[in-house]
Amino acid sequence: MDYELNEQQQEVASLAYQLGQQKIRPVREHYDQTEEFPWPIIEEMRKADLFGVYLPQEYGGLGGGTMDFVLVVEQLSRACGGIALSMAASGLCAIPILLFGNAEQRKRWIPDLASGKRLGAFALTEPGAGSDATATKCMAKLEGDHYVVNGIKNFCSSGNAAEIYTTFATTNPARGARGITAFVVEKGTPGFSFGKKEQKMGIRASSTYELVFNNCKIPKSNVLYKEGYGLFVAQNTFDMSRPGVAAQALGIGQGALDETLSYVRARKQFGQAIASFQAIQHMLADCATALESGRALLYATAKAMDRAMQPAIDAAVQNQTIVYDEMNKLNVKRWTKESGMCKVLCSDTAMRVATDCVQMCGGIGYMRDFPIEKYMRDAKITQIYEGTNQIQRNEIAMMIIKESASKQKEAVLA
Ligand SMILES: Cc1cc2nc3c(=O)[nH]c(=O)nc-3n(C[C@H](O)[C@H](O)[C@H](O)COP(=O)(O)OP(=O)(O)OC[C@H]3O[C@@H](n4cnc5c(N)ncnc54)[C@H](O)[C@@H]3O)c2cc1C
Repeated sequence: MDYELNEQQQEVASLAYQLGQQKIRPVREHYDQTEEFPWPIIEEMRKADLFGVYLPQEYGGLGGGTMDFVLVVEQLSRACGGIALSMAASGLCAIPILLFGNAEQRKRWIPDLASGKRLGAFALTEPGAGSDATATKCMAKLEGDHYVVNGIKNFCSSGNAAEIYTTFATTNPARGARGITAFVVEKGTPGFSFGKKEQKMGIRASSTYELVFNNCKIPKSNVLYKEGYGLFVAQNTFDMSRPGVAAQALGIGQGALDETLSYVRARKQFGQAIASFQAIQHMLADCATALESGRALLYATAKAMDRAMQPAIDAAVQNQTIVYDEMNKLNVKRWTKESGMCKVLCSDTAMRVATDCVQMCGGIGYMRDFPIEKYMRDAKITQIYEGTNQIQRNEIAMMIIKESASKQKEAVLA
């Protein structure tokens, strides 16, 4: 399918594909088995300038947008979803700084995230606050020109490998959801340390850690946007980052199908390649159709988001203002519905495709020394993180019900 990618998008997608096939594919099993963080591959990604494809040129990025981000994450995930997550997690740290940081904050943190010199991470989840982020207990108390943070964040991707963390804590528990504030915390800040490292089903090349804050002093100048706006920062970040999860899922599904196609063409039973059996052909056809449908929705969404957001980003960079304020001036809409749809469709597709690929490969598909079972394990997380698919469906339903009600109201008034 020709998705009319511009020259830069074609280049970054091709670069990420080559890097995935030549550098990641040969070592993915090693990182899956050892759960080591893939630093040599991170170095390759830095050299290829992939970390900042979606970030403004003024801060060392390539000046692309969500579409460029999606293409890189998809092609890296085609080789290994776990390794690709190091880039996506850094994006999840950079997006709130890009959207809600002031000019000084953007200048301070985005260049290192864009070059990959320092990795980023995003810490919203806590043991008691998963789908319900309003239950955040991590506490930040204002004392003069800094906040003193105490509490625990868990399940943080790239935890301990990252050096810049977008973090959320309550600054006013009495205000509930409106009492949560977003901060940037740097590795090495006294009182900030790492707790338990999780052992996972899939994406094992990504380190998932608990973060511990013990009387950690964070300067007031590290607050993103305004006190009490943290959940709002997180929600707007997810609008822009969920297409990245969808891309990770698509890449995982496509990678599983690529490997399966090679196998079913070579494997013979009953004197013929198993690819000649109609039962296998129909599964191949369904997998390819589902992946292409997901890709069509994802690319259309990413391009529409870029068309709407880019003028706000350009204006903020030029005027030294905050992107989110420029988005409001330009009446840029929320992308919650569309980005949720991308995540649900692509992640459910990836899980189904990877499962069918195991089936098509038969017994070898179930074995650890063959790459297909890893795709199935890696696909599962895309239905869970950045808001489970149940939560996405809640949000999509809420949006379409609201839209229907307002259309009805308009029709009555007309
Ligand atoms: C490998 C991994 C990496 C992660 N990385 C990060 C990260 O980098 N940063 C970060 O902040 N978080 C991260 N997370 C956390 C992740 O976003 C949460 O696990 C996820 O949002 C779900 O929260 P929970 O695990 O507490 O599940 P729960 O909220 O306890 O949900 C359990 C089940 O109940 C369902 N459920 C809950 N509420 C509702 C509802 N209202 N309606 C319908 N169903 C509901 C859920 O869909 C799910 O099926 C990561 C998680 C994992 C596993």
